[in-house]
Amino acid sequence: MIKKIQGVIIGETPYKESSKIVNIMTSVGIIGVIAKGCKNIKSPLRVITNKLSYNEFIIYYHENGLSTLKEGTVINYFDNIKKDLTLNSYMIYLTDLTKQVISEGETNKIFDDYINTLIKINEGLNPLILTNILELKYLDYLGAPINFNACVKCGNDKDIVTISSIDGGYICKNCHENQIIYDNKVLKMLKMYYLVDIKTISDLKISDNVVNSINDFINDYYDSYTGIYIKSKEFLNKIIEY
Ligand SMILES: [Zn+2]
Repeated sequence: MIKKIQGVIIGETPYKESSKIVNIMTSVGIIGVIAKGCKNIKSPLRVITNKLSYNEFIIYYHENGLSTLKEGTVINYFDNIKKDLTLNSYMIYLTDLTKQVISEGETNKIFDDYINTLIKINEGLNPLILTNILELKYLDYLGAPINFNACVKCGNDKDIVTISSIDGGYICKNCHENQIIYDNKVLKMLKMYYLVDIKTISDLKISDNVVNSINDFINDYYDSYTGIYIKSKEFLNKIIEY
């Protein structure tokens, strides 16, 4: 069966002399496809088997076993990301993270959010904010969603004074002990990050203080609640240290 799919090549294994098996992240999950002869200079598959471009692929699809790549076109090469070391590190981390998340549920939605995040970063929007937005949305699939409606300790939906990465959510006035008090703007923006539709974002004007507080919160929350460790995140954190 011939199938048209859109996706991003996230890994490859050499196969025989001139071929590769490529792993493609798609809206149905990660699929393995053999690209015959793609290492030959004259192969039409050469350009579309480069890693981390958003392409459309035409494949001979085999339900059980390896599918074969027939042809393809580049939809978005992400060239602005690729020529910038920092942006490149964001892309690698987001791809590693999505690899871990995509098997956990709505592959279609996860893939869309991943691609739209890369498109927005490539267009020049703030990569840290976009990364945090995606991380927040992924928490639902990692079994660690944040409840943005009520105090995590008592269920009270009024008098919320802060959010705690250790307790795992909002803290109300009555339950507050020694948790860090975040500015109200941080709480508001966090909820907005979670709710926003990534593909509609056109402008991101948020003060550095708020952006950095949110990033710190999300890093701590991931450490406490998701149980995932991603090496490329460590590298990224070193690059963007503020
Ligand atoms: Zn409470």
